[in-house]
Amino acid sequence: MQTLNDIRSTFLSYFGDHGHAIVPSSPLVPRNDPTLMFTAAGMVQFKNLFTGVETRDYSRATTAQKCVRAGGKHNDLDNVGYTARHHTFFEMLGNFSFGDYFKEDAIPLAWDLLTKGFGIDASKLLVTVYHTDDEAVEIWKRHAGLSDDRIIRIATDDNFWSAGPTGPCGPCTEIFYDHGDHIWGGPPGSPEEDGDRFVEIWNLVFMQYEQFEDGTRRDLPNKSIDTGMGIERVAALLQGTNDNYATDLMRSLIEASANATSTDPDGPGKTHHRVIADHLRSTSFLMADGVMPSNDGRGYVLRRIMRRAMRHAHLLGAQDPLMHRLVPALVGQMGAAYPELGQAQRMIEQTLLQEETRFRQTLDRGLKLLDEEVSGLDEGAVLPGAAAFKLYDTYGFPLDLTQDALREKGRSVDTDGFDAAMAEQKAKARAAWSGSGEAADATVWFDVAEADGVTDFLGYETETAEGKI
Ligand code: ATP
Ligand code: MG
Ligand code: MG
Ligand code: MG
Repeated sequence: MQTLNDIRSTFLSYFGDHGHAIVPSSPLVPRNDPTLMFTAAGMVQFKNLFTGVETRDYSRATTAQKCVRAGGKHNDLDNVGYTARHHTFFEMLGNFSFGDYFKEDAIPLAWDLLTKGFGIDASKLLVTVYHTDDEAVEIWKRHAGLSDDRIIRIATDDNFWSAGPTGPCGPCTEIFYDHGDHIWGGPPGSPEEDGDRFVEIWNLVFMQYEQFEDGTRRDLPNKSIDTGMGIERVAALLQGTNDNYATDLMRSLIEASANATSTDPDGPGKTHHRVIADHLRSTSFLMADGVMPSNDGRGYVLRRIMRRAMRHAHLLGAQDPLMHRLVPALVGQMGAAYPELGQAQRMIEQTLLQEETRFRQTLDRGLKLLDEEVSGLDEGAVLPGAAAFKLYDTYGFPLDLTQDALREKGRSVDTDGFDAAMAEQKAKARAAWSGSGEAADATVWFDVAEADGVTDFLGYETETAEGKI
């Protein structure tokens, strides 16, 4: 079996052998980009190399990059527990060319690694290209021998990458694996593409233009390559499954969760275990990179992920805090590749224990209230905003946690009503402040800070591992 740790080594040494500098993962809190909440792709640490603002002593690099997609532009939080291929934390394997090689080499490098290095059956692979990118089509045909029906032209932004309205941009090609017709789903571009049959494993971006404010583009003098492959998705296919959560690493975390709760990993609590395993990774890695639970910005995203996991632990029947007990299993799996995890282990365990102990004081009562509210609702009715706000304000339920709980019951929240209740509380807090002429009750300000964190991302001004940014 090719384990996740084997796959990481194979990838890095393959590109190392092809002249790429093997560069360590950067932290999950981007150092050079205050506009990003978390590092969500391998290219983040190289942003200034693509634009030429910065140069280093290499023009090709390869990384296994820690990524979190749980807030900001990239958010897969709501996919976890629902798809077989999404995590909030995952590792993106990538190779990069900074004005060095381009499409002509990037496609063969990727194809040969997949089919020869990893030994993937070529007949199961298909690709998408940007609809006008004839060059890429031609290389796929020539080098990989792909027939026209396995090169799908896509006209949407899914196959055109840009960092923003201006700057470097270009077409991309995505490589998919067909897990077989026993699984529901259709090829990219088809109405059933959201199924789990055709799974995107690798995305190659061809940075070839610079876009200007007036909408015009010019060819970049130094064309570049940025690729990203999800290690868990490749591990799944190499281990004969389409399910990321059935791979060696995720499975061992799921088993740790099942053992700690004396439940069946594949029984009725299956989804709970999957969510817990996923959220254990994202929360632990975020803390190892200096994010701590708080009421705004990045810290609030962290707290929200933790609390979601803690609700699932509760639903499994856990009588005591669970999450901190699973950290050793995670460190056992990933501590060698990411030593920061082991170094922060005690702090992570203590913080999880403290957070879960605190949240459990209100979780049970909050869930009871939620059940009562829902049972009083007419069929198809949404949960009133005031109820969601009470859960938030009195029981510490972030809005997305309530939404997550309701989704299982096919219900949603009146978010306008929730916002209105929040605004009303803010107004009251302000009145209390100006009316008394002295410091208002500290808890009011605590709530206001938390309230802001729900709707707006305030992370840009908040403290991070490196201090204020
Ligand atoms: P999808 O369409 O499946 O959501 P994506 O197009 O959003 O994937 P990219 O932004 O292209 O993903 O990221 C590069 C690669 O990283 C993907 O091809 C995939 O293998 C992996 N990846 C992306 N998001 C996740 C995730 N949430 N969990 C695990 N792997 C992911
Ligand atoms: Mg996505
Ligand atoms: Mg995609
Ligand atoms: Mg993609």
